[in-house]
Amino acid sequence: MSLLELQSELKKFNQASKLTGAVQDVDRLIEVLVSAREEVAAANDPHSTSLTLTKLQNPVSAQLDAINTDLGRVHKSQNAFYKSFARAFKDRGTLPTDHDPMGSQTALINRAIAMHLLREGQFGVATTFIKEAQPSSQTTSQPSSQSQPQTPSITISRPDTPPDAMITDAAIPSDLMAFQSQALQEKFAAMYSTLTALKRRDLYPAIQWARENSKELEARGSNLEFELCKLQFIWLFKGPFFNGLPATMENGVPGALRYARENFASFQQRHLREIQRLCCAMVYSQNLADSPYRTLFDITLAFDEVASSFTREFCSLLGLSAESPLYVAATAGALALPNLVKWTGINKAKNTEWTTQNELAFETPLPKSMLYHSIFVCPVSRGQTTDANPPVILPCGHVLAKESLQKLAKGSRYKCPYCPSEGVVKDAKEIIL
Ligand SMILES: [Zn+2]
Repeated sequence: MSLLELQSELKKFNQASKLTGAVQDVDRLIEVLVSAREEVAAANDPHSTSLTLTKLQNPVSAQLDAINTDLGRVHKSQNAFYKSFARAFKDRGTLPTDHDPMGSQTALINRAIAMHLLREGQFGVATTFIKEAQPSSQTTSQPSSQSQPQTPSITISRPDTPPDAMITDAAIPSDLMAFQSQALQEKFAAMYSTLTALKRRDLYPAIQWARENSKELEARGSNLEFELCKLQFIWLFKGPFFNGLPATMENGVPGALRYARENFASFQQRHLREIQRLCCAMVYSQNLADSPYRTLFDITLAFDEVASSFTREFCSLLGLSAESPLYVAATAGALALPNLVKWTGINKAKNTEWTTQNELAFETPLPKSMLYHSIFVCPVSRGQTTDANPPVILPCGHVLAKESLQKLAKGSRYKCPYCPSEGVVKDAKEIIL
């Protein structure tokens, strides 16, 4: 089965597996029951009550049948897709399913998923997930639930969700508690409300945040605070026709000038030249589009750029990477999958086995943004260097593992395996990647 066919199967599955029909039938059943209850309450006499209940039997069982038919359709489409999925992969070789290094790490994986959901702003889903990911001993109903030790409980709610959408007092297993889901949730809620404001072209919440964290941002060498203020200046400069703000003295060129006077002073040391350029543009305010300042004032992408750099700085001040680690890991895994499947197929044909437990037998090309920790493989021993056996650089510039050099050396002297140069072992310098 080709990938294209699988994609069309997936499309079919997505359409057929919708629960809309079942939900509608459940709603209809509820309607029938509610109206029967009203009838009983209104009549308030035993005879008509039993009549109402008798009349209820047929429509209820019909409705239940309808729900079952709806669910049956969904199950059928799930089965059909499962089969085509399995078939698609059978044709491409199988994965080494006997080797599952993550098998014993359920808690870590659950934590990564919960964290991902929190970071994505899916607070409701995260809460449900955290609740349901508890060890089964806590979730299975036990008759004497009072005698159980109290599970730590935490109130998780997104500040801007209506009360009925809040889930409170979800019991959190201790290791999930450890990453302080509620505190993080509040932080991410703040992040999302700032990002929403940025989408509306409202820079104030972001500027406010940058100002509050000014010291930390500066320590990181971040220009975010200035970039935000600069954008606010340009935004005002462009005037009511462009920004849709009221045509007052707070807006347009006078508004921008006032904003600059009130806010740019603290940036003078680091960004003087740029501030000068921004202010010189005043001269061209009538025909900015034809001026040398045209590019400086082109802010087509500026809001998206500050939004992504805001996200990055916000996450890094929380000690988190800008991209969700789960997203990066899953994407990298998906990129590596075709090679892995191919390699497994070749190995099976040759009847060889997976020999290394902690590394892959082939290289996976990943985009630069996904490379974090460089590794070095010694060209002599073909082994990966470790803390105990670090890479060393020879004065000629060639690099190999320390143990390989020691093996090559005769006494204190060595001959480089890659070029004619010779030297003494103690001149080789350890390198840290
Ligand atoms: Zn050399």
